[in-house]
Amino acid sequence: MERDTLSLRLKTVADYVRQGDIVADIGTDHGYLAVYLLTAGISPKAVLGDVNEGPLKAAAENIQAYQLAEQAEVLLGNGLDVLTERKADTVIIAGMGGPLISSILESGKSQLKNVTRLILQPNIAADHIRVWLMANGWKIIDETIFAEDGHIYEVIAAEPGDPYEVYSVEIPVMKQHWLGPVLMQTKNFAFRLKWERELEQLEQIQSQLNRAANREKAAEKSEEVTRKMTWLKEVLNE
Ligand code: SAM
Repeated sequence: MERDTLSLRLKTVADYVRQGDIVADIGTDHGYLAVYLLTAGISPKAVLGDVNEGPLKAAAENIQAYQLAEQAEVLLGNGLDVLTERKADTVIIAGMGGPLISSILESGKSQLKNVTRLILQPNIAADHIRVWLMANGWKIIDETIFAEDGHIYEVIAAEPGDPYEVYSVEIPVMKQHWLGPVLMQTKNFAFRLKWERELEQLEQIQSQLNRAANREKAAEKSEEVTRKMTWLKEVLNE
């Protein structure tokens, strides 16, 4: 069971939690991550939030099963609302799409005043998160990309600070948001796999656009696809 043996995905997220940090796991679902952080003695306390009752019930049962009720608050609520009048050093939002994660951050901004680290694991479209972090004064301190069970995941850790410090002035910002300013420096196996696949898909889209009846609309889309293909060829061939 995942709560006993954490997936590589959740373990990678957990590895970004500082020893002693109180964590808030937003969209906790089963609560395995919080169970791991508490039982491993990494976090002394955790807030487990979820907007849906079903997942929250599973989280509450797991917290009970591990006799962690004194260290954990399991709360029903939308996004960061569960942090109202509660303290968390680190906020974790994992296993959702980048647009949903960034909308949770945006609507819950006021709850982040005392938070000193964000650990975000988007399943898709991580660029939305990087755009939000830059616009809101969060500096990416590290990023990881890895494959598990046929999926490729990214984890982004950020702290309050100058977002531009990690971005190169020589590379278009949107390219770095898309590929990850840290990930594109290391270009590990998972990075190459992900973006080689993406390049193949873009090539297919491009040939469909070349045959499209609506030339005006196709030209607009084609420009964006060509730009992304150029970025990918640059990063993969460097
Ligand atoms: N975080 C866990 C993980 O990474 O394994 C669970 C991910 S699960 C796919 C997404 C969870 O987020 C679901 O339990 C869902 O109910 C919850 N969720 C979705 N939108 C949310 C929101 N706005 N606020 C809180 N929880 C939300």
